[in-house]
Amino acid sequence: MTAQIIDGKAFAATVRAKVAAHVAGLLASHGIIPGLAVVLVGEDPASQVYVRSKGKMTVEVGMASFEHRLTASTSEADLMALIDDLNKDDTVHGILVQLPLPGHLNANLVINAIDPAKDVDGFHILNVGLLGTGQKSMVPCTPLGSLMLLRDHLGPLAGLEAVVIGRSNIVGKPMAQLLLNDSCTVTLCHSRTRDLPRVVRRADIVVAAVGRAGMVTGDWIKPGATVIDVGINRVAEGGKTRLVGDCDFASCAAVAGAITPVPGGVGPMTIACLLANTVTACCRANGLAEPEGLTP
Ligand code: NAD
Repeated sequence: MTAQIIDGKAFAATVRAKVAAHVAGLLASHGIIPGLAVVLVGEDPASQVYVRSKGKMTVEVGMASFEHRLTASTSEADLMALIDDLNKDDTVHGILVQLPLPGHLNANLVINAIDPAKDVDGFHILNVGLLGTGQKSMVPCTPLGSLMLLRDHLGPLAGLEAVVIGRSNIVGKPMAQLLLNDSCTVTLCHSRTRDLPRVVRRADIVVAAVGRAGMVTGDWIKPGATVIDVGINRVAEGGKTRLVGDCDFASCAAVAGAITPVPGGVGPMTIACLLANTVTACCRANGLAEPEGLTP
């Protein structure tokens, strides 16, 4: 069997189009422009690339983009003061602090200083608690994008066996919560899980979010399963670097029913969901109807 390829790039374009249509409507009917503020501390090259593309796509869907670039030596007090300003700024509906932060800054403290209503990354403890109790919240972008792909491909997920590999606060844990809220039977695996291949083999849905190139191989996959590969790993090949996922694509695609490629799978969904969260936050802040299909 050869798996169907789940085209995250194409799906992300439809999400961005929905966002753009809603943004245009907000301006036409209410004179409101959703605004996203992105804060980058330091010069991490990968973070600079992410921040640049987030800014570009924010503008492309008609929203306002505010970029705040701070030096690596910025003090916690100065960063907290900026967040306080952004919390109070009515033109800013979403605030994202690009992670990782330089070592002297406490990421938990900084994230929990963001107004939860503007926390478009969904990392604030209030949003984590709301998601964990099945209440309306801001939902982390990568798991939200993965859920959208799963629902689009499979329809209702109730009753399916889902195995999530990786228990990070950014991907694994919120992914497990979302799948649980959709009535999957969820197993959350991590580096200490015993006999991981055996656990993964029972899954109808596999979400791999580990950060190890090609770790999941086809012999771990139940025939016909849907595989969401969140991993982004740079591997050296003939003097060049290539992006690969956590799943060994060729062997997994030979067994799975469907699989997301890397690149072009979950990655584009993450930024699309950031834009979706920003327009949702803007609607909530203004007491207006939220766009449909952009939240869980
Ligand atoms: P992380 O390092 O915070 O967490 C990795 C998790 O994998 C941990 O919970 C750990 O227990 C688990 N793990 C490590 N080794 C393991 C093993 N041998 N067996 C089973 N579990 C193991 O990483 P993260 O932030 O969750 O990111 C995971 C991957 O997803 C990375 O490759 C990252 O680049 C990628 N990512 C992609 C997107 C996207 O937009 N597509 C977004 C975020 C992260």
